[in-house]
Amino acid sequence: MRVLYPGSFDPLTLGHLDLIERANRLFGEVVVAVLKNPEKRPTFSLKQRLNQIIEATEHLDQITVISFEGLTVTCAKENNVDLILRGLRALSDFEYELQIAHTNKSLAINQETIFLATQAHHSFLSSSVVKEVARFAGNVSHMVPPGVAKDLETHFNLGLKGN
Ligand code: ADP
Repeated sequence: MRVLYPGSFDPLTLGHLDLIERANRLFGEVVVAVLKNPEKRPTFSLKQRLNQIIEATEHLDQITVISFEGLTVTCAKENNVDLILRGLRALSDFEYELQIAHTNKSLAINQETIFLATQAHHSFLSSSVVKEVARFAGNVSHMVPPGVAKDLETHFNLGLKGN
């Protein structure tokens, strides 16, 4: 079975990676789809985000990393996937995720959204929290894969030097 895991992944965290690993065990092929969306003004370029995921999932089989623009349901259809995976960390995620799931269902009746709950020790992790810690030179080694930690350091060191 194939499952599509869409997101911004700006950057990939250990929470995202944990979801990818568990979906890989449960379903087999995981297509990780990185949203291009320039309006969100991502911290990391599309290429960097793709590379971060490719590097962090090297130990796994059946992982495909792609980028997409536009609607998730279109991306799912184009890639022949009927299952969309999203993660839930807290009640605050639920309202937003349910709204998206209902919207997607109204657009593509044969696609299902499934949710995996975060593991408790990853529940505080988000891309924004990680960037906030890295910005002030905090330790992020327990929050992101090593490659992402390096990218964060490079990004914020250069940023500070530029100021
Ligand atoms: P988006 O901008 O689409 O929300 P994100 O990269 O922030 O993209 O998140 C992608 C998906 O991963 C979302 O469903 C989000 O709830 C989930 N996710 C993010 N962080 C975690 C985490 N720590 N544990 C489990 N799921 C997570």
